[in-house]
Amino acid sequence: MKFEQTIRTAAECSGVGLHSGAPVSLRILPAPAGSGIVFRRVDLDGFTVEANSRNVARVSYATSLMKKGVLISTTEHLLSAFIGLGIDNAIVELDNMELPILDGSALPFVNMIEKAGIRTQRRARVYLKMLRELELREGDKFIAVYPAKSYSVSYTINFPHPLVGREEIQVELPDGRYVQDVAPARTFGFIHEADLMRNQGLIRGASTENCLVLDRETLLNGPLRFPDEFVRHKVLDLIGDLALLGRQILGSVVADRAGHAMHTALVSRILRDPTLWEETTLDETSTLMRASSLATANQWT
Ligand SMILES: [Zn+2]
Repeated sequence: MKFEQTIRTAAECSGVGLHSGAPVSLRILPAPAGSGIVFRRVDLDGFTVEANSRNVARVSYATSLMKKGVLISTTEHLLSAFIGLGIDNAIVELDNMELPILDGSALPFVNMIEKAGIRTQRRARVYLKMLRELELREGDKFIAVYPAKSYSVSYTINFPHPLVGREEIQVELPDGRYVQDVAPARTFGFIHEADLMRNQGLIRGASTENCLVLDRETLLNGPLRFPDEFVRHKVLDLIGDLALLGRQILGSVVADRAGHAMHTALVSRILRDPTLWEETTLDETSTLMRASSLATANQWT
């Protein structure tokens, strides 16, 4: 049986938002079993925004939550770290609208959570177990989830760039590889898109300290942490966006050239159709089998 987990003691960090450029302090606090991940704007009288798909706001270059006009921006890297470390419940306090980008990966969040410690709680973790597949297509973009015994993610990207090109990776989440294989992968951007994005109010906090910056031929701030760091970051983002399901998934997710909008579309399509999945604890199948064999035995005595 797997149980829910929370952070053991409070942990904090500060930095700037990738898109807003605004300074922000963030604090992660333990939360009771069953409460999920809840953001709290301490600069707005502690207004809370739950990390679930009902609160997903506009999604383009980052995933944002919004409730009653209150925004929580760029949630995906922290939520990814929570899934990767198996944190089910936490309160995340912040004093501005966007989470800090830190080094552009989930590693600083992972380190601060591991340093604070992880506490197992007295409630069995309920998983969202896929029973049928769901496939979404949009032009040449694709995302799907298929039934599987555990959570895995495969991702393919194909950027017309000499350093990126076609990259493909598959990551099994339960074997503990998240921290080594996914968390350190940093976000990336193309310098020739930067002016346009800045004019749209994006990437105002981006720098060579928090983002892999590419021009048309090369990487301006190497070295890479992995030869395929770009596709690994897409896996990181996808795991963070799928955290908005509010449950860990038992299923195999496949994405090809998708992005935040398709990731969150998959979340809402899954939740909209309860015939696609069931909720289960990890040893429920064996419990059910025992229960039914007992029932059969009783019939014959
Ligand atoms: Zn990202």
